[in-house]
Amino acid sequence: MSHHHLFTYEIIAKETPYVKRNCSKCKTNTEYYCSEKFRVNSNQKIVDIWLIYSCLHCEGTWNYPILSRVNINHIDSTLIQKFMNNDKETSWYYAFQIKKLRKLCNDVNTDIRYELKKEKLHSLPNEVTIKFCYKYDFGLRIDKLLAEILGLSRSKVSALSEDGTILLNPNIDMKGKVRDELQITLKGDLFRVDALA
Ligand SMILES: [Zn+2]
Repeated sequence: MSHHHLFTYEIIAKETPYVKRNCSKCKTNTEYYCSEKFRVNSNQKIVDIWLIYSCLHCEGTWNYPILSRVNINHIDSTLIQKFMNNDKETSWYYAFQIKKLRKLCNDVNTDIRYELKKEKLHSLPNEVTIKFCYKYDFGLRIDKLLAEILGLSRSKVSALSEDGTILLNPNIDMKGKVRDELQITLKGDLFRVDALA
C-alpha cells in the first residue's frame, strides 16, 4: 500500500559566506570571513555601524558598512544593543545580505556548509511532498539539493522533472534557487520514503 508522505526539510547554514576583496597586506584578491563582531562608532548622536570581516591569510580587516551616519534616535534601541553585544543572529542576518555584499566586494562565496533537518508531517496515498524552509538564504540550487536528498544525479532529477514525476510548487525552474516554503511533490512509487537523506 502506498502513502502520500509530507516532509519538511529545514536548510540550516553552518557558516556565513566568505567574501573576496583585495587585501592591501596580502596584495591580492583574497577571502575574508565574517568575524561576527560589530564596530560601533558614535559621535554625539550620529552613529556608524560596521560588521568586521577578517582576511583569511593575514591580520587585515574589512569593515562592512551596516549603518552610516544615522541619528541614534532613529535606530531601535534593542537593535543598538544587539550591535553592541555582537549578537550572532544579527551578524548572520547582515552576512547573508548576499546581493548587497556582491556590490561591495569582488565576489561572495556562497558554497557553504549546511545541514538538513528533516521532519515528517503526515501521510496520504501515492505521493511524497517535501517542503523546504530556511532562515538564511545562500542561493542553493534546487536540482543540487534534490539530487543530494534523493541520492540521484542532477541529470536524473531534471529528467524526472521533465516527465512530471517531480513537481515544484511554485512551478519554478529546477535549475533555480531554493526558495523558503518551496514544495516538491514526488509522484508514484519511485521514491522509497525511508531512503530520503
Ligand atoms: Zn590579507
